Amino acid sequence: MQNTKAYSAASSTSPLAPTVISRRDVTQHDVQIEILFCGICHSDLHMARNEWSSVMQTVYPCVPGHEIVGRVVKVGSAVSKFKAGDLAAVGCLVDSDRSCPSCQAGLEQFCPSQVWTYGGVDKHLGGVTHGGYSESIVVDEHFVLHVPTHLDLAATAPLLCAGITTYSPLRHWGVGAGKKVGIVGIGGLGHMGVKFAHAMGAHTVVFTTSPGKAEDAKRLGADEVVISRDANSMQKHASSFDFILDTVSAEHDINAYIHLLARDGNMTLVGAPEKPLPLSSFALLMGRRSVSGSPIGGIAETQEMLDFCGQNNITSDVEVIAIQQVNEAYDRLLKQDVKYRFSIDMASLKSE
Ligand code: NAP
Ligand code: ZN
Repeated sequence: MQNTKAYSAASSTSPLAPTVISRRDVTQHDVQIEILFCGICHSDLHMARNEWSSVMQTVYPCVPGHEIVGRVVKVGSAVSKFKAGDLAAVGCLVDSDRSCPSCQAGLEQFCPSQVWTYGGVDKHLGGVTHGGYSESIVVDEHFVLHVPTHLDLAATAPLLCAGITTYSPLRHWGVGAGKKVGIVGIGGLGHMGVKFAHAMGAHTVVFTTSPGKAEDAKRLGADEVVISRDANSMQKHASSFDFILDTVSAEHDINAYIHLLARDGNMTLVGAPEKPLPLSSFALLMGRRSVSGSPIGGIAETQEMLDFCGQNNITSDVEVIAIQQVNEAYDRLLKQDVKYRFSIDMASLKSE
């Protein structure tokens, strides 16, 4: 066992603060990574504040962080994919049973025994797993990804959650040329959704509550921008979308978007607001429309997404911060004051 510096929340109401946590020693199939950057996902905030308590209780202390990039410092004797010195990345999953039908299909995100990067059951040390707001992490190589070497590392970290969570449903629902696609909410996930939908060749429409993001949305790849609080602008798009991806983190009216779907159109929710969202059956049945959800993505698809980003020079738009600014960053996230993802420079943790 080894100690590593980290930032953790001690309770749902405490700010994150410096701490020391344990990491297991590297076993046969493990890779130890010195963490260079870790993105701040809105899920980190939901978890640190126990906002998903109706579905899962946060166990404290909680060390968030599942958008991890870094450098390999040590590998186990049976590791074949990585060597010391390589760049490496870890997303939301660090283990699964590897044998269930979902794992066999490369869809580890649906494994009943999946282990989340933080807040999961730690089979090695007991207690719960701890995430990327830390100096280093030890992960089985199956769950470690290769990073395209020419991409900016701070801007690559958010791909590990915001990237795969938007890439996966866009692929699943066949987004591409000739399709009209809506992206709702331009935060960490949404801005990646816009970049991917555009790169996949779709006619991409952004829905935002923030008029100040309209110009950026076009730069990110949107063909059209709709200020969603304006009912007239919304109405102009009635019954016209093949697919809508909803990334909103808070309560909002999803029926207003379902009405914008064409016949047989689908809206996929990736945002995970604290409370259930009311659903109008009329909005659905009038166009045989459907609503579904999607969690992150499997390991093979996460690598596919990283390779796609490498080929198309896609990264996240980031504001790089020191770990000491993490509580301020959480407050700003709630005010929609980030363009478009905070990425923590983990070198800042060394001074703690
Ligand atoms: P974020 O950066 O805070 O972005 C959320 C965006 O939602 C905001 O930028 C804002 O966009 C919009 N929004 C916020 N409050 C709103 C409100 N009251 N009404 C309407 N729109 C509002 O968050 P994120 O990191 O992208 O995460 C988004 C959600 O996805 C979170 O709930 C997170 O937990 C969840 N998530 C799910 C998965 C998954 O696997 N499914 C993975 C990661 C995250 P505008 O300013 O453009 O309106
Ligand atoms: Zn996330």
